[in-house]
Amino acid sequence: MKITDIKTYLPWGGTRPETLVKVETDEGVFGWGGSGMSTRELAVEGVINHYRRFLIGKDPMNAGALWQEMYRSQYFEGGRVLTAAISAIDIALYDIKGKVLGVPVYELLGGKHRDIVKGFVTSYVSYGPDLIDDVRSLIGQGWPAIRFGIPDPADGISEVFEPRESIAYVSEWIIKVREAVGSGPVLGIDYHHRLSVAEAASFCQKMPSATLDFIEEPIRDETPDAYATLRSMTDVPFAIGEEMSSKWQMLPYIERGLTNFARIDICNIGGFTEAMKVAGWCEAHYIDLMPHNPVGPLCTAASVHLLAAVPNSSWLEVRTPPSRSIPGIQDHSDSTPERRVIFPKQIELEGTYYTVPSDPGLGIEIDESALVGQEYRYWEAPRLYREDGSYTNR
Ligand SMILES: [Mg+2]
Repeated sequence: MKITDIKTYLPWGGTRPETLVKVETDEGVFGWGGSGMSTRELAVEGVINHYRRFLIGKDPMNAGALWQEMYRSQYFEGGRVLTAAISAIDIALYDIKGKVLGVPVYELLGGKHRDIVKGFVTSYVSYGPDLIDDVRSLIGQGWPAIRFGIPDPADGISEVFEPRESIAYVSEWIIKVREAVGSGPVLGIDYHHRLSVAEAASFCQKMPSATLDFIEEPIRDETPDAYATLRSMTDVPFAIGEEMSSKWQMLPYIERGLTNFARIDICNIGGFTEAMKVAGWCEAHYIDLMPHNPVGPLCTAASVHLLAAVPNSSWLEVRTPPSRSIPGIQDHSDSTPERRVIFPKQIELEGTYYTVPSDPGLGIEIDESALVGQEYRYWEAPRLYREDGSYTNR
């Protein structure tokens, strides 16, 4: 079997562009993959086109060897754009292999550990009394873990963000939520790497111990030593990893105890080939995977197969589920009418979980005719600035 073509599509994903890749073969079997690097998808598409030139004619069954060639062949190894492209192709190769062998992808990864993959949900209600009601409602719906976020600019473009103001009111309301719901529910927060070490430490220290079960990305991840410093200043478990693009980037966070949940994104880390290696490394350090899943049904499906195949799974990120209609919050779930045009067959969210599928490959279908000719819609992520005009992390 040989690869005959690799096609890239950049459809609008509801809130941002999505990168979908189709790998075709001379036996008529094809596979779909996806990249998670939103907002720089044109660069990812460019890398995929580079890879296309030398992958045509190669055997698609050799995903591991092709991963090595894609990662190392340009001499300047690695980087987030490259592995975002590798991820999409690697996932498509596993979709092909599953279809060829007539088995779901997780069968290629060691088989099934679980029948369902549980999700975690994010409350998008503003910090205030309504947040308590929303968290109570989510607990009532059966969500096993609930995450708070930090609001994006209301106009979707730019806004002033002052960390000290944020950590004051966010910590105050999270304390109230915990008091209201008791010690049982799992509560976490994603600070979207908007804080410094000092600010993140102050935030954690403002709350009684055990108020939060995890804090996701309090600071940026380029410097593991900064996380080591923060680790020494708080006892809140860390959930790190959504931006990481290889086992080598994950390595210090796993081996030095700098994360307690691995927030890997299978569409960025390097596909199934790399995600399974990271999962094994995490297993050795008693760290559960809590995958990042912000883009669409393809990433959802790949993540479900990954979590089906590993012993160390906590919860999969679920975008706003269809059962939640919150004024002012856009439905960016997988099940909007626009999404179903492109993805007529998905791994469906059933309340708070996904049932592990039994169809060959990823077990999803993409209508290519809905992608052909779709105009690319340029999008930039919103910007945040400090009061003094300086740029700060979104
Ligand atoms: Mg995050």
